[in-house]
This record gives sequence, structure tokens and C-alpha cells, in this order.
Amino acid sequence: ATPMSIMVAVGRGAGLGVLVKDAAALERLAQADTLLLDKTGTLTEGRPSVVAIRSVEPGTENRLLQIAASLEHYSEHPLARAVAAAAEDKGLTLLPITDFRAVPGKGVEAAFGTASLRVGAASWFSEQGIDVAALKAEASIFETKGQSVVWVSQGGQLLGIVAIADALKETTAAAIAGLRRDGLGIVLVTGDTAPVAGAVADELGIDQVFAGTLPGDKADLVKALQEQGRVVAMAGDGVNDGPALAQADVGIAMGGGADVAIEAAGITLLKGDLGRLLVARKLSRATLGNIR
Ligand code: ADP
Ligand code: MG
Repeated sequence: ATPMSIMVAVGRGAGLGVLVKDAAALERLAQADTLLLDKTGTLTEGRPSVVAIRSVEPGTENRLLQIAASLEHYSEHPLARAVAAAAEDKGLTLLPITDFRAVPGKGVEAAFGTASLRVGAASWFSEQGIDVAALKAEASIFETKGQSVVWVSQGGQLLGIVAIADALKETTAAAIAGLRRDGLGIVLVTGDTAPVAGAVADELGIDQVFAGTLPGDKADLVKALQEQGRVVAMAGDGVNDGPALAQADVGIAMGGGADVAIEAAGITLLKGDLGRLLVARKLSRATLGNIR
């Protein structure tokens, strides 16, 4: 392709809502045989909302939400924003916590007086010796519906869970079907649990799923797929996705996602619509097909 036709392709991409950093990114997108997808904010709207609260001690749901929100107020995580918004809707005040700390891929912790507070994943609670058995069955009911469950503890004792739903983007199902028809193997990767990831994958007909993935491990997964000889496109929106987007043969960021994701990516989908990738692959083949 001539420099002129490359410029035209990049410009035409922008008109279609596909922002391309350089022509090589567009070319690698067309060559990719595998598309690795983050769940929250990539497949889903990324605007989760609280749908249920269950406390170990019935009747203390508002207290549970207040404690959770007092920590989540300081977190940027999409699940955290849902918890904080639910507490605000109910007019709950925030507790004066200290020593707030975010543990990436696991949750958040802080102190309230002499008690330690935690909000996060069940696997992290178990690691910390917090017994989650009382609400395991209840939690899995939410998870098999594709809803995320956030666990809350005080002083090492489980207080309860918050169930959070995040709808799929209305463009997701058709986009995945189209990309699969275009020859891409579709792989889901998420920090969420296996039941939640499985429910979403089932709905979309995705058959390869990596759940419970820690932020640092997403890039390793990209590398492992590349070592199998695959040409990997990876789409994500979060701070956690940056290293994986950089490792991928072509990184794809969702417009409106974290700045680090956009910086690490070769392509940004302005409206966060994965269906635009199909258009971009066709554009790439039509314009750059003869680049080498
Ligand atoms: P994802 O890959 O789905 O974007 P993350 O890697 O950010 O997820 O987080 C993985 C898991 O860690 C979440 O599903 C959640 O259980 C837990 N987690 C992380 N941060 C928080 C937080 N601020 N509040 C509650 N849970 C959290
Ligand atoms: Mg995400």
C-alpha cells in the first residue's frame, strides 16, 4: 500500500469510530486469529448496579451497605462505583475509615477504629482466613445469573454480600457472532469468578474462558496464546488491561475506558462497539492487503 492509501485507511477508520494509532495496528488486526476479551466494560456496559444485599445477620443490610460504601467510595473499580451509588441512593452516610488500601484484582481494605474492614472477592477472603461458607450457596445463585458478588467483612468476620448486575452492551452479541464468522477464535478473560464468566460466555456462545485472572496474569495469558502460534488481538478498558493490551499483537481499547488502556492500545473503539472491529478488519484487507 502507498503511504497515501494508508492515510486514507486510517482516516476512513476514524470516520467509522475506529481510531488507529498506525497502519501496522490495522494490518495486525486483519491478521489476528484470536480475540481475547475482557468482560467488564468491554462486553458489558461497565455501569453495574446493585441488585441485592444479603447479610449474615438478617436486618442489617443497610449497615452492610454503609460499611461497603465507606471503602468503595475511594475505589475506581466499576463494582465499587455501584456500591457507592446504592448507598448514596439510600441516603447512607460514610464512616470515617482510615488506612484505605486497594488490592488489585482482589478488593479493598481499611480500618474503622480498631476493626479491619474488607470488601472484595471470596477467594481473597478465603486467603485472609475469613470464612465465607454462610453465604456461598446464596452467592452462587447470583453468579450463575452472570451477576458479580462482592463480599464484605469486619474484624475478620463475614458480614454479607452485595450482588451486582452489569448488562451486556446491546451491540455485544451481534459483534461476537460476526467476529466469529470472520474466523476469529473468541476467548473471555476476567477477574470475575468462573460461574459469572461462564454465564456470560454461555449467553454469547464463547467457548474458551479464563476466570479469576489476576491483573498481572492477563498479559501472561496473551503471551501463552502467542507461544501457541496465535496472532492475538486483545480488547479491554481497564487500568488492569494495559499490560495485556501492550503484549497483544494488537491492543484494542474501549473509548471512555482508562487512559492507560488507550495509551497501550494500537486501536481505540470510540463508541466501545466491538462490531466496529469487523468493519475495521474489512477496511484493512481492502486497503492494506497488499502492504508486503
Ligand atoms: P475484571 O477483570 O472483571 O475487570 P478485576 O481484575 O478488576 O476484574 O477484579 C477482579 C475481582 O476482584 C472482581 O471481580 C472483584 O471480585 C474483586 N475486586 C477488585 N476490586 C474490587 C473493589 N474495589 N470492590 C469489590 N471487589 C473488587
Ligand atoms: Mg474491564
